[in-house]
Amino acid sequence: MISPNIAIVGAGPGGLIAARMLQRHGIDVTVYDADATADARDAGGSLDLHADTGQIALTDAGLLDAFMAVARVEDQSKRNMDRHGAVTGTFEPEEGDTAAPEIDRGQLRALIAAHVDPASVRWGHKLVAAAPAGDGRHRLEFANGATVEADLVIGADGVWSKVRPLVSDGGPEYSGVSFLDVRYDDAARRHPAVAQLVDRGHLFVRGDDGNAIIAQRNSNGVIRGYVAMRTDHDWAAQAGVRMDDRAAVHAYLLKQFDGWVPELLPFLTESEEYIDRAIWFMPAPPAWERTRGVTLLGDAAHAMGPFGGHGVNLALLDAVELAHAIAEEPTLDDALRRYEPVMQARAGGLAASSNRATRAFFGIGTDDIEHLAPDHAEEHRRYIEGAADYRRIRAATGTWQIAFEVPGGTRPAELSLQATHDGLAGALDGTPLDSAYFDTEGKLRIRVAVEEPIPGTMPCEATIDGDNITGTAEHPMGTLPFSGARKQTA
Ligand SMILES: Cc1cc2nc3c(=O)[nH]c(=O)nc-3n(C[C@H](O)[C@H](O)[C@H](O)COP(=O)(O)OP(=O)(O)OC[C@H]3O[C@@H](n4cnc5c(N)ncnc54)[C@H](O)[C@@H]3O)c2cc1C
Repeated sequence: MISPNIAIVGAGPGGLIAARMLQRHGIDVTVYDADATADARDAGGSLDLHADTGQIALTDAGLLDAFMAVARVEDQSKRNMDRHGAVTGTFEPEEGDTAAPEIDRGQLRALIAAHVDPASVRWGHKLVAAAPAGDGRHRLEFANGATVEADLVIGADGVWSKVRPLVSDGGPEYSGVSFLDVRYDDAARRHPAVAQLVDRGHLFVRGDDGNAIIAQRNSNGVIRGYVAMRTDHDWAAQAGVRMDDRAAVHAYLLKQFDGWVPELLPFLTESEEYIDRAIWFMPAPPAWERTRGVTLLGDAAHAMGPFGGHGVNLALLDAVELAHAIAEEPTLDDALRRYEPVMQARAGGLAASSNRATRAFFGIGTDDIEHLAPDHAEEHRRYIEGAADYRRIRAATGTWQIAFEVPGGTRPAELSLQATHDGLAGALDGTPLDSAYFDTEGKLRIRVAVEEPIPGTMPCEATIDGDNITGTAEHPMGTLPFSGARKQTA
C-alpha cells in the first residue's frame, strides 16, 4: 500500500495505542487531541484490563510487561454492601490470578503515550468540524485554526465524537444515571473511615433507593470512586449546585442519601473534589454505513455503561485490530471491510448487556437483575479462556495451502479462515464452511459440504503449529489425512 495519510482524532487509550501499533508497522500517523498535554486533565479512577481484550492489545503493542510492572493484581478483590453497611458478597482473586489487574487511568495513558513518537502527537488540537474533501479524503478543522486533510480519519475521540457525524446521524443517549467522581488522597491518614471500608480493591454499595457508592483503591495511597445517583443529567444545574461549592454538594448529597448508615457518609463529604460525570452511552449495537476514508474505535464507536468494565478494554482491542488490518490489507477500504464488522458485532453484545446492567443496578428496568452481583470468579475464568480462544483463532486466520492424501496421489486445496466476532468462518476451495471452531482440547474442527463422489458433509479435525497444519478429513471415500502450510502474502 502507498503510505496513506492517517489522522487519529483523540489521544485517549484507544487513539494512542492505535498510533503505537501503526508506528510499529512502520506506518506514519498523526494524532490530534484537545488536551494541552497527556497529563493536563485528571484522567479519572482505576481500570481493570482483561486478559481476553485489553491485555491482548497491550501484548501486541509490546507493552504488557510495562503494564504488569505498575498494575495492581491485589486490587482485583471486590466487596459488596448494602446501604445499611451489611456485606452482601466478596471476591478474592486466587494466587497468581492476573485475569483483570487494575491500573490508574492516568498511568495507562502515560504508559502508552511514552511509547508513541512524540512528534506524531499534536496536543491542543480540538476538532470542531470534519467534512468530506472528495475521493475518500476528509478535511479536519481544529479550534486553534489548524486544518488538515487525511486519506483515513480514525475517530478515537470518545462518547462526544466530532468524527462520528461523518458516518452516522446517531449520538449518545442519557443512561438515567449520573456519577460524581470523588477522590480521597493519602486515604489511610486523612480519610481513615473511607480507607478502612475500602481496604483493597473495590467496594460496591448499592442502595435500594437509586443511589450507590463505588470506591476503588488506586496507587500511591489514593482511593477514588463514584457517588452515583439515578437522576437527571443536569441535576446540579436544576438544584443550583456548583461542583466547587463543597458545602452545597455535601448538603445535596446528604439529603439524597438520607437513610444510609452514618459510617458510609464520609464517602459523600470527604472527597478532595467533585467532578460531574453523567453517564451517556451509544445505542447498541453500533452500526453505520461503511464510509470511505473514515472509521471509529472505542467510545466514539460504542460508548457503553460502565457496569461490565469493557469500555477501555474494547477501545484497546479495536485499535490494535484496526492497525493490523491497515498494515496487512492491500487497501484502506479492505482494512475497514475487515475491521468494522468484527468490531461492531463484538461490541454490540457487550454494550447491550453493559447498558442493561447499568440501568438495572440503579433500579431502571429492575426486571433484569442478572448482572447485579456478577460472579467474579466465573468472569475471571471467562477472561482467561477467552484469551486462549482469541490467540488460537488469530493463529488459524489466513489462507492455507493443503494437500489431501487420496488413493493414488494427493489433491491440493485451499482453506481460508477468517476471525469473526464470535469465532471463525471460512471456505474450502471457495465452498463456505458450515462451521469452524476449536474444541475444548484445542483441535480445529471444520465441517464443509462436498459434492463428490456423493453429496454429503465432510468433518475435518486439524492441528495448527505455527505456519503448518495437519489433520484428517472424514470424506465419503474414507479418512483422508491432509497437511499443508500457510500461504505467505507478498
Ligand atoms: C464514570 C466512568 C467509569 C468508567 N469505568 C470503566 C471501567 O471500570 N472499565 C472500563 O473498561 N471502562 C470504564 N469506563 C469507560 C472508559 O473510560 C472508556 O471506555 C475509555 O476511556 C474509552 O477510551 P477511548 O480511547 O475510546 O476514549 P476516551 O478515553 O474518551 O478518549 C477520548 C480522547 O479524545 C479526546 N477528544 C475528545 N473530543 C475531542 C475533540 N473534539 N478533538 C480532539 N480531541 C478530542 C479527549 O481529550 C480524549 O483524550 C468508564 C467511563 C466512565 C464515564
